[in-house]
Amino acid sequence: MSIKIFRNFSEVATLAGAYQKDGRKVLPEDLGLLKNATIVFDAEKIHWIGPDNQLPDDYLEKDYPEIDVSGKVCVPEIVDSHTHLVFGGDRAHEYSMRLNGASYEEIAAAGGGILNSMKGTNALSRVELLKSAHQRVKAIKAYGVGAIEIKSGYGLTFEKEYELSHVIHDLKNLARPDVQIINTFMAAHAVPKEYASSYDYMRDVVLPLLDKLGEEQILDCVDIFHEQNYFSNNDVVALFERAKRWNINVKIHADEFNDNKGAVLAAKYEALSADHLLSTTEDGIAALASSNTVATLLPGTGLFLGKPQANARALLDAGAKVAIASDFNPGSCHCDNLIMLASIAAPLYKMNQAEMWTAITLNAATAIGLKNQGALIAGLRPRFSVFNTNSIDRITYNWGKNLAN
Ligand SMILES: [Zn+2]
Repeated sequence: MSIKIFRNFSEVATLAGAYQKDGRKVLPEDLGLLKNATIVFDAEKIHWIGPDNQLPDDYLEKDYPEIDVSGKVCVPEIVDSHTHLVFGGDRAHEYSMRLNGASYEEIAAAGGGILNSMKGTNALSRVELLKSAHQRVKAIKAYGVGAIEIKSGYGLTFEKEYELSHVIHDLKNLARPDVQIINTFMAAHAVPKEYASSYDYMRDVVLPLLDKLGEEQILDCVDIFHEQNYFSNNDVVALFERAKRWNINVKIHADEFNDNKGAVLAAKYEALSADHLLSTTEDGIAALASSNTVATLLPGTGLFLGKPQANARALLDAGAKVAIASDFNPGSCHCDNLIMLASIAAPLYKMNQAEMWTAITLNAATAIGLKNQGALIAGLRPRFSVFNTNSIDRITYNWGKNLAN
């Protein structure tokens, strides 16, 4: 694609200040708001950005195509850095059961929980899974999201997990270049009943499958559910070391139910992100703040389950890079609208406006290994999201209303 000029956005949030600070300790002015702003770009990079009345004559003299974008707002690309959107079945009834007072154990005894999704997923063919997941990706794209991380993990057998990783790979090819998909291998999501221990399941399924997929070079990241009665420290270390051998990035579901020192482990292994962090205490917060590991918060899960939220302010004040993601999944957060979730979460988390936007753009991109994006600065990749409103304030003010272009 040759050069194009988007002229006269009503507002552009450049996040230039947040980018300079590497997404840490972001202040309101780091939003870098420009009014009546113009962007000159091609397929590779942003060539120029600034107030329209300062657009250099060279660009005007060359007759590049100009598109009038007045009345619209531009922000760095919205990134949903944590989803589990390849699944079969439906767990709507569990939401009602919870409202009526059922415990996690009662729901599991009634055939609910993750094993319900495992059943629903295994009942669908590869083609059916691809079709339903593709519909979900299109729905998320319609909110203005330009990058989505997708985890496998509802197959829980060697064959089905292999298939799920390939479904995500197919989605990646279907969605590009409009939407960037990150393929995360998460066969270590739960331990199926047939296995005596997480160690046995890791040995028989997770690690050999990672080797097979590693050889095929279709994975971007691995992830693991590090919690009591799920996967242990040793399982995490085994997975991370194997991923390293294949040059695949690592991520972790950390400290959701208990402080298992998942955040500390994530920082030690230079994970791209540690996600959930509801129970992370001082040492974990300090470890994240002094590392490049992104602290990814998932407010929808707490809201959906009626549980507390992570201590976002402590992470932000300590200097951690904080992202917000949807955790879109069939059981604990069946919500695909990241902008709505971030809008609701920002006051709960006591985030300032620039921190909130950084959390779903710059830091979310870092959390899934996407580089040279997350701010609108000359030289960076031209990854941005556009909204049909003349004020950035209205995007988060109108909860759940889709203003994407
Ligand atoms: Zn998750």
